[in-house]
Amino acid sequence: MPELPEVENTRRYLIEAGLPGRTFTGADVGWAKTVKKPSLEDFVLGLTGGTVQEVTRRGKYLLFKLGHQGSDTGPTLVIHLGMTGGLRIQPAKQPVHSMVRHRFFLDDETELRFQDGRKFGKLWLADNPNDILPPLSPDPFSEEFTLKSFRDHLKGRSAPIKAVLLEQSIVSGMGNLYADESLFLAGISPVRPASKLTVKEATRLKDCMIFAFTSALEQYDRSRSEQWPDPPMGLSSWSIPREKNGLCPNCGGPISIIRVRARGTCFCPKCQR
Ligand SMILES: [Zn+2]
Repeated sequence: MPELPEVENTRRYLIEAGLPGRTFTGADVGWAKTVKKPSLEDFVLGLTGGTVQEVTRRGKYLLFKLGHQGSDTGPTLVIHLGMTGGLRIQPAKQPVHSMVRHRFFLDDETELRFQDGRKFGKLWLADNPNDILPPLSPDPFSEEFTLKSFRDHLKGRSAPIKAVLLEQSIVSGMGNLYADESLFLAGISPVRPASKLTVKEATRLKDCMIFAFTSALEQYDRSRSEQWPDPPMGLSSWSIPREKNGLCPNCGGPISIIRVRARGTCFCPKCQR
């Protein structure tokens, strides 16, 4: 599932692929239910003729501010990648991958293609994105995400720290993979009750969350330049091995795979306390 670094990587990819300044000339929405607002017809009509002014991100939502006929007062296209979604800009003549559900035609004979195998992606067109975006928790890279806000969330919580990390109220975009990674880097067991973390541990965990996100983004930046025009949209390796029979890179002991709130969780029982 795309987590925050994957969505940010997609945003950077779209900018590097030259999307800002391009104009949508039409759209082929292959799965009508993906369009949440307005109606499918109004969505396509409203998009057509819109020039992308900028591509921004709020949490895991990608925002494409559109301008119509030289003005910048158009609506905003909002995309959520869902469970398995990915975006690509490809020449119109390039064969379309079977998982592409939606195609947005651009004015330079390329297309913005939305691959969405499991159809959990979402599309909106809104004059004001605030009307459709849920209240978002702080972005991990923003100043709102402080040690105090983090510790306030852990206070009085007997739930496993991993489960609490996955609640989107702490930081937006934290998902299963980066939660495991952050806990491993911080040396904290995923099943520890959240409220039992010491100040020192909470500080370390917060730093490791930022570190996990930042190093993923660095890896994505490298892959985009090395593997253009088809860079990977997911990481292939993690500090904590994610496969059965994996060995801890710190102590060489076996990695445990358990379930925390139904989510597959990898950790080292020796190094993570
Ligand atoms: Zn270990």
